[in-house]
Amino acid sequence: MRELVFTGGTVILPDRLCAESNVVCRDGLVAAISKKKTLPRGVQVVDLGGAFLSPGFIDIHVHGGQGADFMDGSLAAVRTACMAHARHGTTTLFPTTTTGSPEQIAAMLAACAEFQSQIRSGGQGPNLAGVHLYGPYFAEDKVGCHSVSGRRDPRPDEYSSYFASGIVRIATCAAELAGAKEFYRAARRARCLITGGHSNASWTEMQSAFKAGLRHVDHFWCAMSSVPSLRTRFGVPMQASMAEFVLMNDAMSTEVIADGCHLSAELLEFAYRMKGAERLCLVTDCNRALDMPPGKYRFGNERDGSWLLSDGQVGWSADGKSLASSIVGMDHMVRQMKRSTSATLPEVVRMASLTPAQRSGIADHVGSIEVGKQADLLVLSKQLKVKKVFVRGEPFEPDES
Ligand SMILES: [Zn+2]
Ligand SMILES: [Zn+2]
Repeated sequence: MRELVFTGGTVILPDRLCAESNVVCRDGLVAAISKKKTLPRGVQVVDLGGAFLSPGFIDIHVHGGQGADFMDGSLAAVRTACMAHARHGTTTLFPTTTTGSPEQIAAMLAACAEFQSQIRSGGQGPNLAGVHLYGPYFAEDKVGCHSVSGRRDPRPDEYSSYFASGIVRIATCAAELAGAKEFYRAARRARCLITGGHSNASWTEMQSAFKAGLRHVDHFWCAMSSVPSLRTRFGVPMQASMAEFVLMNDAMSTEVIADGCHLSAELLEFAYRMKGAERLCLVTDCNRALDMPPGKYRFGNERDGSWLLSDGQVGWSADGKSLASSIVGMDHMVRQMKRSTSATLPEVVRMASLTPAQRSGIADHVGSIEVGKQADLLVLSKQLKVKKVFVRGEPFEPDES
């Protein structure tokens, strides 16, 4: 029996900060959170030295890192991207598909399943909780930085094999596409979090999507409908969009890319105040340019994905006119959200851990520092920099990967 005790810092719980508590971990799980001054004998002690102990971050929307995109479809690419994000504090990922061919998506699912089984049989690295099937079912006028040729409407003969693989846990489809409702029903049978994105859907289309199981919208304000975009689509009277639908409906959650480049501080504050920490997730939506020098990179598959330009802060489309996803890890998003909004530290961390865990259905074993949950823990400095990462109670040593 292996025991590890974290002491001498401030523990970040979902609803409060807890100073002077010890967190005891045994066999990879949190065994106790106690105020006891004396530590049991023979345990391994991690002195936090006044730092924060945070739950590991959970990213439900992430494409790659350190030169690799999950859509490259190889075990090596999945491993590289997962390890890169773990260094930034993400201990649980949902690798996210882009648009692409059915063969590319099938290869990505298979590579993720292989990595997942390696980790589950004792391999080193973060948890791969499942895949976010994101592309290819986007609206043609909202494809954004994804390759247009890889976009299509949902067809059961394609997606039934994805769901049958068992690894898809989050499923996106634009609500206005032909076949969207059938897709949502299939995703619901597969017990996925159902989400809509890269979509110009109207209120009415969102209502019927909601009936079919939709409960989340990808990267709020980015590649989604607005009152003006629907006016262009339908004329007058002006109609409510995905934005109003999410803001008015308490059962709907959403996510923000809080890298400081996609959304201004007041939009982050607005999203937090309107949805609250229980319905707003932080995501990285990070591409392969994480921890890479500025330059030109493929978004999606390494052979035929669309090009993006990294300026060292964010990704841009090849023409330099629009953003093309982020290039930073979850630790950056947490610092930015804390700096930009009135959310408390427990709330900001919750948006990067417990809330995405609850929305994606994995909160029974990860997402917060709670007795019985996995000891996925971060030592964060006062400035919220990642000092140490623990996955299932083991120190994560990125250099050994
Ligand atoms: Zn997107
Ligand atoms: Zn994305």
